[in-house]
Amino acid sequence: MHNYSADALVLRTYRYGEADRIVVFLTEDRGKKRGVAKNAAASRRRFGAALEPLTRGRATYVERENRELVRLDRVEPRQTPIGAGDGRTLDDAARALTHAGYFAELLDEWAPDGLPNERLFRLGAAVGEALAAGGAVDALARYFEFWLLRLEGVYPALDRCPRCGRPALHDGAVLISADRAYVCEACAHGGQRLSAAAVGFLRSAVRWTPAEAARAAIPAAPLRELETAHHLLIALHLEKDLRSARVVKELRPEP
Ligand SMILES: [Zn+2]
Repeated sequence: MHNYSADALVLRTYRYGEADRIVVFLTEDRGKKRGVAKNAAASRRRFGAALEPLTRGRATYVERENRELVRLDRVEPRQTPIGAGDGRTLDDAARALTHAGYFAELLDEWAPDGLPNERLFRLGAAVGEALAAGGAVDALARYFEFWLLRLEGVYPALDRCPRCGRPALHDGAVLISADRAYVCEACAHGGQRLSAAAVGFLRSAVRWTPAEAARAAIPAAPLRELETAHHLLIALHLEKDLRSARVVKELRPEP
């Protein structure tokens, strides 16, 4: 048996018998773990409200030889996705929570079991922090998708059109799903178009922190273009659509 204590993000929780929960969590130092939280439904002392997706906290767990499931003894929350909730309307809080669920689901899909990935952890933690601070959820979501794909090395390049070699796609780009590439407008015949504003967001996102992305006043239209392009790219890589992405769309206020 080995005891561990680590900074972690809660990704997902599901029922396990009457009172227990299985908790999927991403540790800063040892990657993704699955743990049994004994009596989690009743034990507010050990878990409290700490099992909401994207909650960051100190996880104490025990690993046993030849067991995939660890024993999760406690999570002390340090940050929850809606933060203190100051001044937030119920709608805003609901949108923050559904986005927290979406980010956590993406992290769960992307993080392999037990393989340390500190950059992925830091991305999730920083985006959770910006969400808790009440930043604009749509800009934050596009930022998160961009960086997630980028960290995996699968975000299509924007520095050159792969078909004609034209440099820097500043005035717009078109996503060709089949090629998993952005091409210039002249080379595209159909595909998901990104306006110059959408490409500008991506160029800024390379150097922005999540908090900066959440503060930048980005118009809805380019964010919508990026949402469509990113969901196509994510579906290509995961070979499925995410349930939480649909929930996020359903909760969006009508323009
Ligand atoms: Zn071209």
